[in-house]
Amino acid sequence: MTPPPFTLSKSEAIFAEAQRLIPGGVNSPVRAYKAVGGVPPHLVRGEGPLVWDEDGNEYVDLVGSYGPLILGHGNAEVREALHAAVDSGTTFGAPTRGELEMARTITERVPGCEMVRLVNSGTEATMSAARLARAATGRPKILKFEGCYHGHGDSFLVSAGSGALTLGAPDSPGVTKATAANSLVAVYNDLDSVKAVFDEHGSDIAAVFVEPVAGNMGTIPPEAGFLEGLRAHCDVSGALLVYDEVMTGFRVAKGGFQDLSDVRCDLITLGKVIGGGLPVGAYGGRSDLMMQVAPAGPMYQAGTLSGNPLAVAAGRKTLEILGRHGIYEQLEYAGSTLQKGLMRVAHEHGRAISVGRVGSMICPYFSAAVPRNLTEVTATDREAWVRFFNVMLRSGILLPPSPYEAIFLSVTHTQPVLDRILEAADLAFREIRST
Ligand code: PMP
Repeated sequence: MTPPPFTLSKSEAIFAEAQRLIPGGVNSPVRAYKAVGGVPPHLVRGEGPLVWDEDGNEYVDLVGSYGPLILGHGNAEVREALHAAVDSGTTFGAPTRGELEMARTITERVPGCEMVRLVNSGTEATMSAARLARAATGRPKILKFEGCYHGHGDSFLVSAGSGALTLGAPDSPGVTKATAANSLVAVYNDLDSVKAVFDEHGSDIAAVFVEPVAGNMGTIPPEAGFLEGLRAHCDVSGALLVYDEVMTGFRVAKGGFQDLSDVRCDLITLGKVIGGGLPVGAYGGRSDLMMQVAPAGPMYQAGTLSGNPLAVAAGRKTLEILGRHGIYEQLEYAGSTLQKGLMRVAHEHGRAISVGRVGSMICPYFSAAVPRNLTEVTATDREAWVRFFNVMLRSGILLPPSPYEAIFLSVTHTQPVLDRILEAADLAFREIRST
């Protein structure tokens, strides 16, 4: 029996109406299909590595909700923890024991993170960390890297990555000149550009914000010496080094990126994985800094739903599972198998691609070598990538709809699932060769 032809007609109908009521039809710009054409499949269900849309199409999910779903969809233990939490009350506006246990796990696992405050998103985490850095140093400016994304706080929508980059709007209207003037920008993996900024503004810089693996312009690992260089500049000038580990935290290793490197940050921001699929963010670090946060100290930051019992239940269970033996080895296997497989399949069809990867964060680039910074990322063959994306979609593989977003694998992306992805990639590289 031949399968029915691929259709997104039900998603199309919903999307048409949604566009009248929701800006662009989506509640976050990265979900729009502007970069790839067509409409986004509207999803109804997920299980393990798979998702299904309104039209009944099944896909291998390589989006992973942009990072949180490290255990795949619908992990049975996480679901059970959530059910128990729902039955006990969804929010109290009072402290709970679960928050203490969550803080204990985070501070035990993340090097140098002595205290932590829970918030509701990565954006809140970075905004709060920026305020804390400014409060602690008494300085106005932050330094970030072009193509890195730190959420949509005003200070960070300057040369931003992720959806802002995909849509060609890395600097957003509505951010005042005064705010933007306090956000300095350097080039990722380029210490000369960092030095130039410090030479001019060193004594005004409160903090350097960096994604230790740049995950919002694909997946770009830091080059040897880059993070060491940032640490040294911060030490000399008295600025704080902030690792934005909203993506990499508990994803690339059990204690986050710092498990893979000896360079220590002063503050860290977390999100995605620590919420186990519910909205959670966190910022933490040295206790002398964190003690400046209200009510322990004067820097104000608050949240009606912060430390929400459901989010904490899902997050705690996720972190508990990630603490078990062999999980990160499994994620590393999935990442390296997909990386090698994609390179092999592309090569067989005469196409040079490169694959940036750290653990289960991975990005195929249509370029001979993995880019080192934003300029090199935007020089990759975007048109070929779009054709690749669309053949993959029709073959039941859901990629993030932008050449600048990372693929996030989960522990449920086992060998048969990886084989299925590579079979589809084989077809995709064949098709884009002949068109
Ligand atoms: N920082 C980084 C490194 C991120 O990747 C993201 C989101 N992709 C954020 C901050 C913002 O997190 P959120 O979308 O939860 O606000």
